[in-house]
Amino acid sequence: MNRSCKGCAGVPVPLRTKTLLFFILASLIGSAYPAKHVDSAALSSIREAANVLDEISKKSQNGVPDAVLNSTKCIAVIPSITAETANVSAGGVATCRQAPDSWSPPAFVKFTGRGNPTHPTALLVFVLSDKGARALRSGDLQIGGKKRAPAPLVSTSPVTSQVELTAELLTYEAAAGVLSSSEAIGVIRSNASDPSRNALPKKKTDKYLPSVVSFFNTITPTGIVIHHTALIPGQKTVPRKERDIDEYHRERGFEILCFGHVYHVAYHYLIMPNGKVKAGRPERCEGAHAAGYNSYLGISVVGDFSSEDNPTGEKGPTRPSPKQIASLLQLCQRLKNRYHIPLQHIVRHSDISSTQCPGDRFPFRSVLDQLVTRPGDGKPGRE
Ligand SMILES: [Zn+2]
Repeated sequence: MNRSCKGCAGVPVPLRTKTLLFFILASLIGSAYPAKHVDSAALSSIREAANVLDEISKKSQNGVPDAVLNSTKCIAVIPSITAETANVSAGGVATCRQAPDSWSPPAFVKFTGRGNPTHPTALLVFVLSDKGARALRSGDLQIGGKKRAPAPLVSTSPVTSQVELTAELLTYEAAAGVLSSSEAIGVIRSNASDPSRNALPKKKTDKYLPSVVSFFNTITPTGIVIHHTALIPGQKTVPRKERDIDEYHRERGFEILCFGHVYHVAYHYLIMPNGKVKAGRPERCEGAHAAGYNSYLGISVVGDFSSEDNPTGEKGPTRPSPKQIASLLQLCQRLKNRYHIPLQHIVRHSDISSTQCPGDRFPFRSVLDQLVTRPGDGKPGRE
């Protein structure tokens, strides 16, 4: 039986985390491109598109719903559309998903049409349907028109509607690093007719892909999942140091590329028996702790609080210590305030998955009751 939260030390959810595989794949695919001479305009459009994605990721107000990120088949980024003329033509790059965390080498595209009439913007087109991906690949993707669905943000529409997810594409624009739904109308065509652009060295074009991977691994947290660590398989007690968990997760391949860094630990926070809070992966990096809930923050309380799995404490603490509970309350309150997380989005792992985690001795009801009554402590914390 595997219902206890043994999996909590290593839940098998390495969604979008196959970074190493992606690098290997990308280098194999990219080597098909001959390196001739460098087109500086093409290179700068790659650099600018990467900057657009990096800039947007930095602000949590720009959070694109996880459901949209997960459904995106291709993304086209046009770094700069001027507002001066009604009919503009601007270059950019497009890439399509090959595997959860692997994207095709960037292809050069051109947007022709009308952007924001009042100020210059970057245009980001998230292609959600196969039909849209085919249109982009064949070099004729229509933007705008009657069937346009407004592009959602976590901050404005916490629940992504089916209309949005069944749209062929969603168009966003970014001005001064702030993302919003776009009214752009036009067409995105392939720029492949210009042979010099396909002759870019792979080393240059591949610089774009880590920005894409990081962007799609960035979340705006919408909830909190509480876990216990339980045992690390092969060891007799609960992890003593966060390093134990990090090493275990490293072995399991739970790594993620996020904000340009690689992180292993699947949780965002770990609460030690003495109440100390240890940081795992950054809050805005997608977790790997609960299938289907990776836009939720993962907090793991060290111990095994299942009376069935750990009846007499031979596998470590049987109940969370008062200091652990105090730290958990403080942390939940802070995260709840920072990301406007509703109380009903604070759940136990067992509420969303068939596991005993965090165990029947974990006082969840009391934690929730105290969160209802506690005023926000307003302390600044780590982003
Ligand atoms: Zn768990």
